Amino acid sequence: MTENCIFCQIVARQTPAEIVYHDEQVTAFKDSHPASPIHLLIVPNRHITSLNRISEDDETLLGHMVIVARKLAENTLISQSGYRLILNTGQDAGQSVFHLHYHLLGGKPLPLPTR
Ligand code: AMP
Repeated sequence: MTENCIFCQIVARQTPAEIVYHDEQVTAFKDSHPASPIHLLIVPNRHITSLNRISEDDETLLGHMVIVARKLAENTLISQSGYRLILNTGQDAGQSVFHLHYHLLGGKPLPLPTR
């Protein structure tokens, strides 16, 4: 755990969040400023700053995060209507929390960002 990381604090239950899923590898919770009716964040329990810090050793973890996203899409009933999985990396992508996370967005049409 990294002391001043808000997502580490959520994983450790030191900061409140609406946690919707947890296992030995990942935690998922509702985004505090949702951009769509369904907006969940899926984070590794272990602190990883960004995709830039991922290595071959993390293949299983990354695959697991995607499987959890698929299950959460089913649980929240957005599988059929559609959803988007986003992983922002670094400043130009708008990453604001430097603990690796997928955004799972759905529940409304999701236009692509303007060019
Ligand atoms: P990103 O900009 O890709 O780094 O996404 C960070 C996301 O974390 C944003 O959508 C924020 O709304 C969300 N967020 C920040 N702090 C919290 C928190 N304490 N609980 C839930 N979501 C948070």
